[in-house]
Amino acid sequence: MFAALALLAAGVLPVAPTPIPPHDAFDARQCYEYTAEITRYGERNPGSPGHAKTEALIHRVVLADGGKIDSDDFTADTPRGKVPVHNLIGKFNQSGDPHQPIFILAGHYDTLFKKGFVGANDGGSSTAILLSFADALKGHKTKMQIWLVWTDLEEAVNSFTDNDGLYGSKHLAHKLVEQGIAPRVRGFFLLDMIGDKDLDVDRESTSAGWLQDFIAAAAKKLGYSQYFFHYSTAITDDQDSFVNVGIPSVDVVDATFGKMPGDGMGAYHHTNQDTMDKVSEHSLMVVGRTVLLAVETIDSQS
Ligand SMILES: [Zn+2]
Repeated sequence: MFAALALLAAGVLPVAPTPIPPHDAFDARQCYEYTAEITRYGERNPGSPGHAKTEALIHRVVLADGGKIDSDDFTADTPRGKVPVHNLIGKFNQSGDPHQPIFILAGHYDTLFKKGFVGANDGGSSTAILLSFADALKGHKTKMQIWLVWTDLEEAVNSFTDNDGLYGSKHLAHKLVEQGIAPRVRGFFLLDMIGDKDLDVDRESTSAGWLQDFIAAAAKKLGYSQYFFHYSTAITDDQDSFVNVGIPSVDVVDATFGKMPGDGMGAYHHTNQDTMDKVSEHSLMVVGRTVLLAVETIDSQS
């Protein structure tokens, strides 16, 4: 009160602080810490203790950030038998409008069924960047409803075929169609393997080019163009499930993890060398800030 009076006396009115836009609120250090914490949980395939700990962390962060949490639970028939699947959805900025547009940011939180595989980059970084998006969205108003979707059982139980892999995202995409929600979804960005120290994001060729252009423009504005879209290849990933139901989607994926070719996606991909020493805070920052700025731009035009 005293300070305000003094300002008034000086002829200056106190001004409400401008809210920090999400891309500036993105905390890369915290994102790296989340990745490290999740990686310490160990193997995180469905049914494992690490998977349950990751679910608990997601719940905790979304609720602390003022989001609402929903889940999409079902049992998948897999070559390994029945597997319980839990997609988790953190919803931000829901208005009462039943036609409010929705934008989805997604990433898988399961890891490969492979002894000793801890997936710092593949599974860890995608889970963590969505947690940091929740932190950045805390208290921030957007016109669109923002959904943070942690997909489950993205990984194939044996190897990717039409019937093995992408279990969680297929189920959720069909559910959105059945519930009549799909037409409200303006876009879908999938984040995968974006913590790689040697960051080079694929202009993934099954993705919607016009939506990738928002990412390219945001990267340019932030001075990060060197990390994006210098090669183009098709990746089987959760965006396929949403593309197949007509939702404009982009896979934001670094498809070269370690020396190429390895298994086609680099020497560390799907190996027990996918550990924290391959992950960088800087890469998480570049992708986190770029994706959030792209969403802010889309929101301002919605
Ligand atoms: Zn994988």
